[in-house]
This record gives sequence, C-alpha cells and structure tokens, in this order.
Amino acid sequence: MPARAAEICSSIVVAVLWAASPFLMLAVTPPVLLLQRSLLHADLLLAARSDGKTRLANAAYWHQVAEREIGRSARTGRSLSVLLVDIDHFKRVNDRFGHLTGDVILLAVADTLRATVRPRDLVGRFGGEEFVILLTEAGREHALDMAERIRSQVAGTRCRLDGRPPLSVTVSVGVATQDGSSGDLSALLARADTALYRAKADGRNRVRLADPLCAPA
Ligand code: GH3
Ligand code: MG
Ligand code: MG
Repeated sequence: MPARAAEICSSIVVAVLWAASPFLMLAVTPPVLLLQRSLLHADLLLAARSDGKTRLANAAYWHQVAEREIGRSARTGRSLSVLLVDIDHFKRVNDRFGHLTGDVILLAVADTLRATVRPRDLVGRFGGEEFVILLTEAGREHALDMAERIRSQVAGTRCRLDGRPPLSVTVSVGVATQDGSSGDLSALLARADTALYRAKADGRNRVRLADPLCAPA
C-alpha cells in the first residue's frame, strides 16, 4: 500500500512538472521511472513471498528464511524454536457454515498469530489450516510460553458473522527447539509434527513439547 501511494504521488509530481515546465521533465523523468520500477520490483517480491489468502509468508519463503536462521543458530550456538499450529476440527466449520465462513476464520487465526509473535519471528502458512512459526533466539521456555499465548488468544477470539452467534475455534500446537547444535530443519519440523500429533491425540486445544534430541539415558 505505501508503494502504491508513492507511485501515485510520483505520477502527480510528473503531471504538475509537465504543466509547469516541459524542460524540467527531461531532468525528472529518469529518476521517476527508476523509482516506479523499484516499487514494482518490491511489489513483485512481496507477492512471491506471501500466501495469497492470509498474507502470511508462503511455505517456500518460510523454508528459505528458516534454513538461513537454523544455520546461523548452529554457528552461534543460540537456541531457535519452531511451532506447528493446526486449527482443530476445521473441516466441521466448513461443513456446518460453508467455505467462505471457513476462510474468515482462517484469516482471523492468521491475524491472531501475526499479532501475538515478536516482529523478528516469522509466521508462515504451511498449507490448508496449518501454520508454522519460526522463533529466532528462543529456547524451550520462551517457545512454550509463546505457544500457550497463541493457543489461548485463538481460543478467546470470537468472529461475528451474519448475525449468527459468535464463532470461535481452537488450535493445537507442537513445539520443537534446537539448542544450537544440529542445524537440521527437516528433523526439527519432524519433531514439532510429532508433538502436534500428540496434542491432537491428547484432546486438542493444547500445546505439546517435542522430546529433546539428546537426554540422559
Ligand atoms: P484436526 O483437528 O484433526 O486437524 O481436524 P481438521 O478437520 O482440522 O483436519 P482435516 O485435515 O480433516 O481437515 C482440514 C480441513 O481444512 C479440510 C479443508 O477443507 C480445510 N481447509 C484447508 N484449507 C482451507 C482453506 O483455505 N479455506 C477453507 N475454508 N478451508 C480449508
Ligand atoms: Mg486441523
Ligand atoms: Mg491439518
């Protein structure tokens, strides 16, 4: 949106200068064209990195950033965590209220996730009704605290649609932490997925922590 506003402003400046002095136009046109090109590039870059429905990071961009951050975490020895967040019984929402209402709920959950994490964290849409969150420089305690905050914020969010009673959903969250050693994103995600599976099996609307990679025998 700011890019669009800047583009409109630059077009107005060109129009005003054209009316005032066509000679001035010769000096002003190249930088204005350059500005418009770079704005277009920024727009395209944002579109390539975003999920169209939720405006969160798409899975490809999330992976790209996560690979870079997990490498950094392995080098520096700082902790990093991932959260897998899945909406509970979402199919029932679609079945009862229709896909358009389902989409409104999906967007509300995406907005809640975005509003709950720190600016440095990256929320992505993994696919369907599943989200993934990268928490940089975050150990087990912080990750668990964030996961619990997300769970309770989502559960406490009410969507008012078409004069119906307010609608809400819950999420289950799997948490896995890397303590700066392995640097293997797939393994970290697999552990978070196992923890998510346990949260579902234990009754949903809960947070479960993955088993540590290494523990005393
Ligand atoms: P669970 O608690 O085990 O996760 O149950 P669930 O119903 O959420 O999981 P399931 O995998 O059975 O169904 C996922 C549903 O999510 C089915 C699919 O239609 C819906 N879904 C996926 N993407 C979208 C979307 O973009 N919009 C809408 N409205 N629904 C979606
Ligand atoms: Mg689900
Ligand atoms: Mg799912």
